[in-house]
Amino acid sequence: MFIIKCEAGFDASHYLSGYEGKCGKIHGHRYRLIVKVQSKELKESGSDRGMVEDFGYVKAALKEIKDLFDHKIIIEDDETGRRLIESLSAMPEIFDYVLVPYRPTAEEMSRHIFNMIKEKGIAVHEVELFETPTNSCIYRED
Ligand SMILES: [Zn+2]
Repeated sequence: MFIIKCEAGFDASHYLSGYEGKCGKIHGHRYRLIVKVQSKELKESGSDRGMVEDFGYVKAALKEIKDLFDHKIIIEDDETGRRLIESLSAMPEIFDYVLVPYRPTAEEMSRHIFNMIKEKGIAVHEVELFETPTNSCIYRED
């Protein structure tokens, strides 16, 4: 089994609706994303010969994920989230957001990222998303 690993990072804030405690307020993280791609066999022909996957292709997928979240507020697309956007939209020049169909925990985000990479035809094995240097979530399908 071969496993290749690519890493990216992005800065974003999120809002966890209904969370009791200080993380119930909008706050930011330096997210660190590690993606592992696996294959039992290496590609046998073409420019990817001898590879699990072209690192450049995986990096391009990670860049799309970074562009989706970087320097944005990640907000759940629910009633509270839409109210939050309404209240912030008086000053659209000072913030940007991304609406997601889930509570933006590390767990939900890592599953979302896993599926985004899988949709590109990449044999993703595992996604690990760090919210802090010591807290992360690993998502795998098995
Ligand atoms: Zn947080």
